[in-house]
Amino acid sequence: MKTKAAVLYEYGKPLVIDELELAPPREKEVLVKNKAAGLCHTDLSIINGAIRMPPIPCIPGHEGAGVIQEVGLGVTKVKPGDHVLLMWVPICGQCYYCLRDQPYLCAEKDKTRSGTMLDGTYRLRKGTQNIHSMLGVGCFSEYNVVSEQSVLPIDPGIPFDLAAVAGCGVITGVGAVINKAKVKPGSTVAVMGVGGVGLNVIQGAVLAKATKILAIDVLDNKLELAKSFGATHVINASKEDPLKKVMEITKGIGADYAFEVIGNAETTLTTYNLIRRGGYAVVVGVPDLEAKLTLPLYEIPLMEKSILGCNYGSGDSRVDLLTLLELYKAGRIHLEQLVTNRYRLEEINTGFKDLEAGKNARGMIIYS
Ligand SMILES: [Zn+2]
Ligand SMILES: [Zn+2]
Repeated sequence: MKTKAAVLYEYGKPLVIDELELAPPREKEVLVKNKAAGLCHTDLSIINGAIRMPPIPCIPGHEGAGVIQEVGLGVTKVKPGDHVLLMWVPICGQCYYCLRDQPYLCAEKDKTRSGTMLDGTYRLRKGTQNIHSMLGVGCFSEYNVVSEQSVLPIDPGIPFDLAAVAGCGVITGVGAVINKAKVKPGSTVAVMGVGGVGLNVIQGAVLAKATKILAIDVLDNKLELAKSFGATHVINASKEDPLKKVMEITKGIGADYAFEVIGNAETTLTTYNLIRRGGYAVVVGVPDLEAKLTLPLYEIPLMEKSILGCNYGSGDSRVDLLTLLELYKAGRIHLEQLVTNRYRLEEINTGFKDLEAGKNARGMIIYS
């Protein structure tokens, strides 16, 4: 069949809306008609070449939701008509990591990171050229074939755009707080960068009953949004020194937990400096693959300051995504307020310009 998709043919250039050939699903694969796909900063990093994974040409997009159209042989998890959320780690349940309660690090990731199906082949092509699909889901395509392991059936009552945003921004931010940092009630939490993921670190901190939630960004519109998500203090780093301000608010102690949600070495160092003795700095933002971090090493043993990495919310997405959708239905987390702009696929490059300009919490592609 044919599908319309936004293809990255060249780093640093706009995506090209193109018509591609899509081969049918093979064993344990499904054909998904995408209904919504979020514009995440990681997609932008691929487009501008900071993260050259998968290789080009490729279809970015990893925060999506849609409807199952067709299933391949041996598929038992879903059937045509099911509403699904796409998971950008295809959990196998049997590898070294899955068996040790770290399914978000599943070994299958090594295959999908290279932009192929789990068997190493391709379903999308333009003429004779194979097209890679980001993390095995590439949802900037009207239709795509993905592994059965990459889909999670959801309640059909949940709007597709809200399900989609849960699939990267929300699970990553909330998971960083609950699963990775395990923030304790009464804590002080600082969040460096309050975009689509940072706002969800704030939501996670609210769920964890943090008493002080300090949002740091350089844009006032984002800081305003941060307040509506539960930030108790906002710091505009373009106008005041975040370290000085955090020390002032915490009476010279520092934050119990600080989250870096930008993906930048300089702001990661600042985030580390915000934590107190015995505190935790959690790195969530994905940096340029060449970025390096230099730290005052003695503080790690002598002051017991810790740095933690967090990917995909450090939990089991098969459970956590459903929990997040339940929390939304119960009115305990915001999803509508995260989706600040909607675009047609043809407007995708405008959507990324808006993301770069800091206009969106989440921009969302809506397919007809
Ligand atoms: Zn993402
Ligand atoms: Zn696994």
